[in-house]
Amino acid sequence: MQKISLIVPCYNEEECLYAFDSEINHVVSQMPEYSFELLFVNDGSGDKTLDIIRELAQKREYVRYLSFSRNFGKEAAMYAGFCNVTGDYVAIIDADLQDPPSLLPEMMKILETNEYDSVATRRVSREGEPKIRSFFARQFYKLMNHISDADIVDGARDYRLMKREMVDAIVKIGERNRFSKGIFGWIGYRTYWYPYENVERTAGETKWNFFSLFKYSIEGIISFSQMPLGIASWMGVTCTGIAFLAILFIIIRRLAFGDPVQGWASMICIIIFLGGIQLFAIGIIGQYIAKIFNETKHRPHYIISEASDEVEKIN
Ligand code: UDP
Ligand code: MG
Repeated sequence: MQKISLIVPCYNEEECLYAFDSEINHVVSQMPEYSFELLFVNDGSGDKTLDIIRELAQKREYVRYLSFSRNFGKEAAMYAGFCNVTGDYVAIIDADLQDPPSLLPEMMKILETNEYDSVATRRVSREGEPKIRSFFARQFYKLMNHISDADIVDGARDYRLMKREMVDAIVKIGERNRFSKGIFGWIGYRTYWYPYENVERTAGETKWNFFSLFKYSIEGIISFSQMPLGIASWMGVTCTGIAFLAILFIIIRRLAFGDPVQGWASMICIIIFLGGIQLFAIGIIGQYIAKIFNETKHRPHYIISEASDEVEKIN
């Protein structure tokens, strides 16, 4: 019998877990031809999340869990999941029911045809989300597809079901600055995009605010594109060109009209302008250096302080 593993990153989800459990249990009973493994990854929650997970693990034989020593972020939680699941098919699914478990049977049917290696979900609407957030999200996806070789579809969720071989590839990508949507696109394989209407959170609150999303998008760009470095170089070339023309202009004016002392204001503007561009370029380089610094430290992705079974605690 083939096994489906579900990875569920949880950070302060006490209000969602029972509802999530009953939905999943329903799906499990709908698919008797598969065995299931449900791996909760408790990402350093400060509420009763871990207690509830322990209780669910007692109650259901297919539930396993890992618990981090602190909050390492959803990316680390997903990576821990990928490193520790054993299924032939693996899905990432949020605990807040925004990724409807009821889609799983359909998604599995698509994989069974063997025409695709993964089924990924995308929201076709962004109902219930602030307009300004949707706008920037859309611009981000457009830009990202333009400047990187990681294909990301607008509205793509992390919710996707994939075959074992893809999971093995993802585990091999051991980088610290993880941007999973990019990684999923980068490894390739045949992906079917499954559209669905946005679902709002069952309970609790999103862990993302506008600023954290903005930071996350910069992370994504820096991790998957060298375009910003290119922009810095091109700005340098352009400024050099302009400076060259200005020098020509000044020499000709000097020869034609002598040298009246003036132009203090314009000089200050030029100095500030160039100073700004230089700092901007250094900032871009700094972003990449910071990433290199992070990678070279080779710190573990996560530390597990408790688990339902034998696992590698530090990885
Ligand atoms: N999550 C996590 N660690 C974090 C933040 C979030 O494991 O530091 C989990 C969270 O419990 C949920 C999923 O990631 O299962 C998605 O989080 P959220 O619903 O806040 O994001 P959104 O759906 O708004 O993008
Ligand atoms: Mg959510």
